[in-house]
Amino acid sequence: MFEKILIANRGEIALRVIRACREMGIRSVAVHSTADADAMHVRMADESVCIGPNSSSQSYLSIPAIISACEITGAQAIHPGYGFLSENASFVQALEDHGITFIGPTAEHIRIMGDKITAKETAKNLGIPVVPGSDGGVADTAAAKKIAAEIGYPVIIKATAGGGGRGMKVAKDESELEIAFRTARSEAKAAFGNDEVYMEKYLQRPRHIEIQVFGDGKGQAVHLGERDCSLQRRHQKVFEEAPGPVITPEQRAEIGAICANAVAKINYIGAGTIEFLFEDGEFYFIEMNTRLQVEHPVTEAIFGVDLVREQIRVAEGLPMSFTQGDLVVNGHAIEVRINAEKLPNFSPCPGKITQYHAPGGLGVRMDSALYDGYSIPPYYDSLIGKLIVHGRDRPEALARLNRALGELIVDGIDTTIPLFHALLQEPDIQSGNYSIHWLEKWLAKEFG
Ligand code: ADP
Repeated sequence: MFEKILIANRGEIALRVIRACREMGIRSVAVHSTADADAMHVRMADESVCIGPNSSSQSYLSIPAIISACEITGAQAIHPGYGFLSENASFVQALEDHGITFIGPTAEHIRIMGDKITAKETAKNLGIPVVPGSDGGVADTAAAKKIAAEIGYPVIIKATAGGGGRGMKVAKDESELEIAFRTARSEAKAAFGNDEVYMEKYLQRPRHIEIQVFGDGKGQAVHLGERDCSLQRRHQKVFEEAPGPVITPEQRAEIGAICANAVAKINYIGAGTIEFLFEDGEFYFIEMNTRLQVEHPVTEAIFGVDLVREQIRVAEGLPMSFTQGDLVVNGHAIEVRINAEKLPNFSPCPGKITQYHAPGGLGVRMDSALYDGYSIPPYYDSLIGKLIVHGRDRPEALARLNRALGELIVDGIDTTIPLFHALLQEPDIQSGNYSIHWLEKWLAKEFG
């Protein structure tokens, strides 16, 4: 059993992991940059180590610094949270070489799913439905034209090494293909140092539906239903809910079983998310994330499980504490992402929090590392909190979200809170009628 776990992250997700450790009687070690010396995760952990200067590349992304911190403190395992090193196969390899347990999947699984072409091919071989497209990379515009003619326009050209919604270009017809192909390539080269691209049919009004899976690394795996994360701005999720408003119990059971069987077959260990676009009743795989997701709390709310605790258990070699039969959907949960950003351009808005008040009451969870007087540093992600509500059904969850947002006070900086007040007034949001393009169109209409 682990006695001490180091958390290679910051902000709300570091607190999330520290909380699970504390409930399990495990000591926690926080690591931090100099800018984060006064951060909440440092205050809340049992121990802390400064691992470098402000920039993440020299601190939260520094593999040698993090391994040293582990060795100094005697931590036996590392939880990576999300972002930073959570999907870095070399990091996992380095930990293995030092005899430190990574709380997450194997380096091999991270590598397979980190390369989008290999991931798609693996998914297809495991029986997961994928978006029609090129078999692997597309070499040049002539090849691109040939494939586009087969799958039909519009098409989307995506970077093999892509992530965070970057390196994607849509071509509506053949006249747009050449330029889209070239731009996607050069953007991929600039952003990821790898200009390989692949091609897919561009779905016009899909929803983003993702399936939470969990494996024990020994051939057992379950699914924990879906999350609908269709409300996105620039391919970044802002509002997530579970269950999905348009997914039937039969659809959930069917796609869930396909995903659980797939990850069981590869002896996947820990939490993973298989992302799909969903249109006209069909699921199309787009990628798999081999880590805990930002939006995992909505799944925890409706199934009443602690996914971080479970990650730690399987990393220790223990069996999962639930079976598929134990996992029954209970009610409805919604998460909204509170970012330090100024509307309408969503420009980052770091600064000093003059007043912070978290909402409470039945069915309300606030995951945030804010406190009165805290200064949000400008060097990291703008996510400063997640408000998660749970109700017996979707209308109750929406009413609770409205009530909780009214109680939430974050003064001193601009945040995305007003966005959610406005969204809750929209009939489409109230009825759950939205695709992945809804938010961008709404923002264009509201703010021009
Ligand atoms: P990333 O890893 O950069 O997030 P994804 O492959 O997960 O890239 O795609 C991110 C988002 O891009 C999706 O949630 C969806 O909004 C859009 N997208 C990706 N592939 C397609 C497609 N074939 N058709 C329509 N939209 C797509």
